[in-house]
Amino acid sequence: MAIATNLSKIKDNLSNHVTLVAVSKTKPNSAIEEAYEVGQRIFGENRVQELVEKHASLPNNIEWHMIGHLQSKKVKHIAPFVALIHGVDTIKLLEEINKRAKQNDRIIPCLLQMHIAQEETKFGLDQEELNGLLASDSFAQMDNVTIEGLMGMATFTSDQDQVEMEFSSLKTVFDQTKKTYFSNNNRFKTISMGMSGDYKIAIDKGSTMIRVGSSIFGGR
Ligand SMILES: *Cc1c(COP(=O)(O)O)cnc(C)c1O
Repeated sequence: MAIATNLSKIKDNLSNHVTLVAVSKTKPNSAIEEAYEVGQRIFGENRVQELVEKHASLPNNIEWHMIGHLQSKKVKHIAPFVALIHGVDTIKLLEEINKRAKQNDRIIPCLLQMHIAQEETKFGLDQEELNGLLASDSFAQMDNVTIEGLMGMATFTSDQDQVEMEFSSLKTVFDQTKKTYFSNNNRFKTISMGMSGDYKIAIDKGSTMIRVGSSIFGGR
């Protein structure tokens, strides 16, 4: 019950250009089913093993998003079915996704993860690495991935100004990147930013996709 109520509270305040990814990591299938029953179809997980198991045991029409850090050697396990990979932050990983997508006769949608937070520990590309990747010959030859946008995580802080600044910077990078590399490509349209604690700020700053876990399913 609580899950359905939480979901509808969040969705009631979303305009229809913002997609909600329900982050179900560590939560049992029963929790996902509860959300599914009230119409939620997009779920996000951050561990390959858990993602594979849940995909195998839950309804076929769920769109599974990989939102966490992804190791190249594990791509093959999710390549047959993953709907969107949010955390691509090296050309090597993208090459592996392309290779495994091809083996599965698929095109896998990806987001490039940008490093926008102050913390050293968070993954992601800086501006120079982003340009390097998008301008590379290797990328030009990839036929089995599409870059649908950017993803970022703000610093874990109660300083709202800091969070606002980081989300704004991602929006700016997105706009510039679209202009420079994807001006004729309608696929490049997603800015994945915002979690339970900061999704309202993120939407305010231009997010088109929020990844919300604990506000839907409760704490972990
Ligand atoms: C866990 C996680 C989320 C959701 O976090 P909540 O604070 O529970 O909403 C969003 N994005 C990523 C990458 C995560 O790992």
